[in-house]
Amino acid sequence: MGYILDNDVKFLTGVGERRALLLQKELGIRTLGDLLYYFPFRYIDRSRIWRIGEIADDSLTYIQLRARITGFQHVGSGPKKRFIAVVADGSGTAELVWFKGINWIEKRLEAGREYIIFGRPAFFNGALNLVHPEVESVLEQANRFHAEVQGVYSTTEKLNNGQLGTKAIYTLMCNLWPQVEGHLRETLPGDVMSRYGLVPLRDALYNIHFPTSQQALRAAEYRLKFEELFGIQLNILREQRGRKARNDGFLFPAVGRFFNGFYNEKLPFPLTGAQKRVIREIRQDTVTGHQMNRLLQGDVGSGKTLVALMSMLLACDNGFQACLMAPTEILATQHHATLLRMLDGLGVRVELLTGSTRKSERTALAEDLLSGDVHILVGTHALIEDTVQFKNLGFVVIDEQHRFGVEQRARLWNKNRRPPHVLVMTATPIPRTLAMTLYGDLDVSVIDELPPGRKPIRTLHYRDAHRLQVFGFIRNEIKKGRQVYIVYPLIKESEKMDYKDLEDGYAGITQAFPPPEYVTVVVHGKMKPADKDYGMNLFKQGVAHIMIATSVIEVGVDVPNASIMVIESAERFGLSQLHQLRGRVGRGGEQSYCILMSGDKLSSDSRKRLAAMVRTTDGFELAEMDLQLRGPGDLSGTLQSGLAFDLKIASLGKDGQILTLARDAAERVLADDPELAKPQNKLLCELAAKYVSKKETDFSMIS
Ligand code: ADP
Ligand code: MG
Repeated sequence: MGYILDNDVKFLTGVGERRALLLQKELGIRTLGDLLYYFPFRYIDRSRIWRIGEIADDSLTYIQLRARITGFQHVGSGPKKRFIAVVADGSGTAELVWFKGINWIEKRLEAGREYIIFGRPAFFNGALNLVHPEVESVLEQANRFHAEVQGVYSTTEKLNNGQLGTKAIYTLMCNLWPQVEGHLRETLPGDVMSRYGLVPLRDALYNIHFPTSQQALRAAEYRLKFEELFGIQLNILREQRGRKARNDGFLFPAVGRFFNGFYNEKLPFPLTGAQKRVIREIRQDTVTGHQMNRLLQGDVGSGKTLVALMSMLLACDNGFQACLMAPTEILATQHHATLLRMLDGLGVRVELLTGSTRKSERTALAEDLLSGDVHILVGTHALIEDTVQFKNLGFVVIDEQHRFGVEQRARLWNKNRRPPHVLVMTATPIPRTLAMTLYGDLDVSVIDELPPGRKPIRTLHYRDAHRLQVFGFIRNEIKKGRQVYIVYPLIKESEKMDYKDLEDGYAGITQAFPPPEYVTVVVHGKMKPADKDYGMNLFKQGVAHIMIATSVIEVGVDVPNASIMVIESAERFGLSQLHQLRGRVGRGGEQSYCILMSGDKLSSDSRKRLAAMVRTTDGFELAEMDLQLRGPGDLSGTLQSGLAFDLKIASLGKDGQILTLARDAAERVLADDPELAKPQNKLLCELAAKYVSKKETDFSMIS
C-alpha cells in the first residue's frame, strides 16, 4: 500500500468529485498530503473576550464578546430588510445585524440568554455593530472543543461559491486529521531536530491547523519553515558542491597584451578599490580549473561594465572568445559603443548582434565567430540562438540578468565543449537572504563603492497639487544647462492605461515647456527602433532638454548631463525600482535631484516607501525594506522569474534567521555526505527531492 498522503482527496469525507475538482483547479490540491500542507494564512486569537465599552473604533479586525440579548428588532423592508439583536454585557450595548438568513437566526436566538459573539466591529450612527457575526450560546461553547487560536484559510471566489470557504476547509481538515495522524512519516532525522530545537512533524502539522496555544503555533511554524528552507538549501548547496568538484573549468593563467594594453594605455581613470577587488576575485576563479558562476552586484553607476570588459580581455588573452548579453537592444548598442571606444587601437575585434542585425551581416558575422576573428560579441537575446556558434567561447557576461529566464541562460552554456565562465551582473541590490536562496549556487561579488567625485543625489517628494512648483524648479535647472528625465510607470496589466498616462503627460509637459524654447522627446517600448534611436540621440547630444520615458526603456541610459529624474506616480513603483531609476542621474559633477511625484492620497505602505527614498540612498537598505513591505515576488517586479520554487510557509523577507540555520544544517549534512547517498540520510535525500522544481532542474544545466 502506498503512503496515505498520496491518496486522492476526493475520497475524503466532505469532498467528492465536484469539490475535488474545485480544490485542484483553485488551489492545486490533489492528494490528502496537498490538503494537509495547505496551511492557514493567518490566525485569530479567540482567547480574549472584549468588553463592549472597551471598543472605541473599528481598527480591530475581529472581536469576541460575551453578552446577553436584551431585545430584537425588524427594520426596513425589501432588500434593505434587516434583523437586529441588541446585546449588552454591563459595559455597554451593541447591535448584531443580519441581512440574510433572518428566519433561521431568529429561531436560534433567545432573549435573556448569554452568548459568545464573534465578528468584525463597525460603528454605525455611533453604535457598535457586528454584521453577520458568529453566535454561540455559552452552554454550547462550553461543550465543544474550542481552539484558542483559530486558523483562517485563504480561499478564492470560486471556492466560496462552491461552498468551500475558510470554515469548510477547516471542517475538511477536521475530517482529514484522524485519518492521517497515525500514519505520518517523520521527514527530519532526530539529530537535526534536536540540534535546531524542532518539534516532530506530527505535532507541527497538528498545531499549524489546530493550535493548542500561541506557543505551540510558533513552534509549528518554525519547524515547517525550517523544513522547507532546509530542503531548498540541500538542493542548492549540493549543486554548488557538484560544480566545484568537477574539474572542467577553462584556465586563464595569462595576463597578456589585451589586458595589459588596456590597463596601461587606455583606462581613463584609476579603478575603484571595489572594482580591483572584483577583478582579482574573477582572476582567482579562472585559474582554479572550476567553472566560475559569479553574481556581480553593484549599484547603478558603480562601474560594472568596466569589470566585465577587463574580464573579457583576460579571456581573450588566453585564446578564448567572450560575449556580453544585455536585456534590451538599446543597452546592447550602448555597451557595444562603449567597448569600441574603450578598446580602440588595441586590436580587439568587437561585434554587435541584435534582433535588427541584417541577414547578410549575420552570415558574415557567423563566419568570423567560427574562425575566431571576432573576440568579443555584444548582443541581446539574439546571442542565444543555436545558429550563433563560436570557435572557443570561454567567458559569458550577462547584464541585468533578471530579465533572462533560467532556460535561456542554460543555452549559453552549450556553446562550447565545456561550459564557459559566467559573470552575471545586476544593479538590483539583492538582500543577503534572498541572494542565498536564489543564487545559492552562485558566488557573489559586490561593488560597494562608487567612482570618486559623485555628489549624493537629493530626493524630494511632491504631491500632484504642487506640480507647478516642480515645473518652476525644472525650468531653472534647464536654464543652468541641465537635462531632465520624466518617467511614467509601465505595469503589464494596465499597459493601455499607462501609455495613456504617458501621452497625457507628454501633452502636459509640452504645454508647460513649449517648443521651440524647450525640446522634449518621448521614448517607449512601443516605438519603432529608428524613432527610439532618434529620440535617444537627441537627448544624448544635449539637443533635447527633457526625455519622457517608461520605466522599462531607460535601463542603462548613461547621460552624465542629465541631473534631474522625475518619477511620476512614484507610489506605483517598488523601492528597488525607484532606486534604480534614481541611479540614472548623479553621474556628472553637478548636484542631481530625484523628484518623486505622487497622488494626494497614499496608502501607509506607499508613504513608508517614499519616505525611505527621501531618507536614504543606500540600495541595500532599500531592498531589505522592499522585501519586507512587498515580499520577494515584487522585488522590483523583476526577480520573480528567478525564484525556482514556491514557498508554502517561509517568507524570504521575514525568515532570514531560519534560513541561516537551515543553510547551516544543510552544510553540515553535505560536508559529511555530499551526494546524500548514505543510508542514514535517506530521509534527507527524499526531502531534497521534494524541493527540486522544474526550474531548478534547468538550473542544474548551468553547472
Ligand atoms: P553600471 O553598469 O555599474 O551601472 P557603468 O559601468 O555604466 O556602471 O559606469 C558608470 C559610469 O562610471 C560610466 O560613465 C563609467 O565610465 C564611469 N566609471 C566606471 N568606473 C569608474 C572609475 N573607476 N572612476 C571613474 N569613473 C568610472
Ligand atoms: Mg550597466
